[in-house]
Formats: sequence, structure tokens, C-alpha cells
Amino acid sequence: MDRRSDTLIRTNAYIAGSWTGAPVTPVLDKATGQEIAKVPNLGVEETCEAIKAAHAALPAWRQRTAKERSQILRTWFDLISAHSEDLAHLLSREQGKPLAEARGEIAYGAGFVEFFAEQAKRIYGETIPSPKSDSRIIVIKQPIGVVAAITPWNFPNAMITRKVTPALAAGCTVVVKPAEDTPLSALALAVLGEQAGIPAGVFNIITTEDPEPVGKELCANPLVKMITFTGSTEVGKILLRQAAGTVKKTTMELGGNAPLIVFDDADLERAVAGAMASKFRNAGQTCVSANRIYVQTGVYDAFASRLAEEMAKLKVGRGLEEGVNVGPLINEAAVTKVETHVADAVTKGAEVVCGGKRHAKGGTFFQPTLLKSVTSDMQVVREETFGPVAALLQFQDEDDVIAMANDTPFGLASYFYARDLARVWRVSEALQFGIVGVNEGIISSELAPFGGVKESGLGREGSHHGIEEFVEMKYIYLGGL
Ligand code: ADP
Repeated sequence: MDRRSDTLIRTNAYIAGSWTGAPVTPVLDKATGQEIAKVPNLGVEETCEAIKAAHAALPAWRQRTAKERSQILRTWFDLISAHSEDLAHLLSREQGKPLAEARGEIAYGAGFVEFFAEQAKRIYGETIPSPKSDSRIIVIKQPIGVVAAITPWNFPNAMITRKVTPALAAGCTVVVKPAEDTPLSALALAVLGEQAGIPAGVFNIITTEDPEPVGKELCANPLVKMITFTGSTEVGKILLRQAAGTVKKTTMELGGNAPLIVFDDADLERAVAGAMASKFRNAGQTCVSANRIYVQTGVYDAFASRLAEEMAKLKVGRGLEEGVNVGPLINEAAVTKVETHVADAVTKGAEVVCGGKRHAKGGTFFQPTLLKSVTSDMQVVREETFGPVAALLQFQDEDDVIAMANDTPFGLASYFYARDLARVWRVSEALQFGIVGVNEGIISSELAPFGGVKESGLGREGSHHGIEEFVEMKYIYLGGL
């Protein structure tokens, strides 16, 4: 039992400002397998209730001034900051990530609350020169309405604030369905949101073991005007199809297959540090994790041996243990996927420099793994491994590596390390990804427009662009003046 995070644990869902539903589904500590708490297993009926509550709360919330909404969000930010240690402990337990990373996520998640509290006041309209002298064209922006948010388990706090706070700032109301593995961080946010003064019905949370019918209702219900999703491309496509029935606006943050390219002229130490940060954060379970590391021939061996040295320092264990920097994977299916990818690579000729197996700690722990002599036909290159496996490929030519990097249906994050200025610009333009980290392995910030191209998604989250997804543009053509 970890008393630190218990104050924010809730075992009911949050609908129309009430804590509701019988706690039945256990939420496990991902490192120990022990139950932390139970949450309700809700279905279509309760989902409809939450949608109705959000719809009922919409007129009053929309009518408030931007400044009033801003002040409530700011209070929420202050409360999250005041409880950041409790939130981080809870997150580490239910998700598995090291405490230092959990603290980082809480700060990152709070950053969205702070930013969009400010941004609420900056949803500006426009006047456009009119085609006739007796008329004027004015563009106004209005909240889109009830928003449904479906969020993943890898960032159980930040993926909620990234969606919910721009929506609330814009005057929308929200129904959130958090991932079944990590509902407690979502409920903890609602506890603080309630204390901050978010009115009943403006922010609702549905917990469920069975996301399919709940997702279907969120997509089909005509009262919901927008679906914002972060998760796999596979599920994103299902939601897009389902949302088509009522022509809902969607934003989709889907899978990635990030390349990290190290050119001969790179600052090698910086490249190693960037690869470590991008690869092993959250045990490789992020959609911006470097999935394929391309190293130019001249520095290939030096890079591989420096990376192996740094990897040897990684400490695998329970997130709450001192000094741990790689936690368990989220579940057994995740471990099986990593094992399958490693086995496929080895069969096709990859060399295991270190790791390659389940960790002696058992459970869902996996050894940090370095593979050399990886080739483009291997699963570790074609698909997102979502685990602590660094796959190294060798290349000679800039054009070739760009072609290989772009040879994927995905286009979320990419990274490269180089010093030649012309190359930096050339490669940045050529990479078909929504995000390019140049000499930088950690690229997420509430200040930047996160999002992907191709099958990695639609729309952007964060920055001043992020809030625009939650408003409709309307122009008023004023004649007879
Ligand atoms: P992952 O493979 O990383 O677990 P998913 O895309 O399966 O990612 O999950 C992301 C979110 O989507 C979770 O909240 C999950 O419950 C939800 N989800 C999964 N399947 C469906 C579905 N058919 N309809 C709606 N939501 C779903």
C-alpha cells in the first residue's frame, strides 16, 4: 500500500458531477500485479447518460466569459501542481513508468492546463474585406459542442489534459473514456477538477472494461460533435468509420514508426543521449519512441558501442524504486509482441548485442535490448515495437536513408543528428513526418503542435493551433449597411 497516492484514488466513474457506478474491475499495479483499487465497468446506458449530462451542461458553460473559464482552468492547474507528488505516485503504480518520468508527465500534463487556461482568452475572430461597399464579413469562432475523448494508457494523465483543457477553454463539454489499464489517473484529475469548480456535467469520465460498445455510442450519438482519440491506428480507423455516420469532426493521434538518423557529422554524444531518451522513456512505449535507428557507416561501430555502454547503466524495476529508469511493460500482450519482434529479427540475421529476453524480475519486465545488423525487412523496422528494443541499421547515403525513413505508412515523429547546416535544412524538409527532432530526442511540449501525417493521424494537439480543433468557424455576412 502506498499512502502517498491514496488520497486521490476514486472507485466510481464521474457523470454529471456525481461519483457513480459500482467498483468491480480491478486496476493493477503494473510492477507487482497487486490490485490498487476497483473501478466501474460501465456500458452504453451510462455512456448515454454522460453524453446527456455534457449536452445539458453545454449552454451555461459556453455562455461563461472566456475569462471565467480561464480562471477555473487556472485553479485546476494550481491544484494539480499542489498534488503533483500524489498524482505521480498513482501514475507510476497503475502505469509502471519510473517515478521520475511520472513526475515529468504530471508537469507536462499540467502544462496543457496552464497553457489552455491562458489560451481561452485568445480565441480571436476576424474581419475580412467585403466584396461590396454596403456589406461586411466577420468571422466568429464558437465551441464545437460535446466532445468525446478516448485516451491511451501510456500517458494516462497528459493525454487527457491535452484534449480536455483546450476543449473546456473553448467552451465545449467533454466525456472522457480513459484506457482500461489506467483509469485512476483520469479519476484523480476529476477529483481536482471538481475542487477547481468545473461545473457538473462539463467534464465526465466513463470507465469500462469493454471499450467497443462505449466507443460505438460515443461515435454514433448525434449529441456528440467531435471525437478526439489517441491510440493505435487500427482503432483510429474503426472510430473514423463509426464517426462518418454522423459526420463528426475528429482528431486522431495514432501510431508512429519513428526513425532516428545519425549522420557522420553528428555530435555523437548528443546522438547517444537523444537515442537513449527517445528509446527508453516509458520502456519504449510511446508513439514517438525511436523505433528504427539508422547510423551512417563512418560512425556506426562507435555509436553502437557508446549506446551499449549507456544501456548497461539502465536499471530495470518497479517505478517507485530508487534509481529505476525502465519499468515493466503494460501487459503480457506487450511482452509477447516484443519477443516476437526480437525473434523475427534474429531469424533474419540481426545480432543481439545485449538483452533480447524477458527480465529475470519476471512479470512483464523486459531486458533493454540492442540489435545490430538490422535490415528493412524485419518487423522491428516495419512495425512499432513499443518496447525497450533499440534496432540499429547501417546506411551510407543521405538520399537512401531519407527514402528508408519515409518508407512507412506512418508519419508522426522523426529525429536526426547532424551538424552541417544545409543538410539539417534539407533533411528536415524531406522527412514526411509531423514532427522532426533535430539534435533533440525529447520533442513533446504543450507549446508545440503535436501530430502526425499519413496514417499517424489528423489534427494537432497543443500550442495555439490545438485549441482551434475545438471551435467552428462561422462567418456573418452583414449586408445593407
Ligand atoms: P493500444 O493498442 O496502445 O492499447 P488502443 O488503440 O487499443 O491502443 O487503445 C487506445 C484507447 O482506445 C483505449 O482507451 C482503448 O480502451 C480504446 N479502444 C480500444 N478499442 C476500441 C474500440 N473498438 N472503440 C473505442 N475505443 C477503443
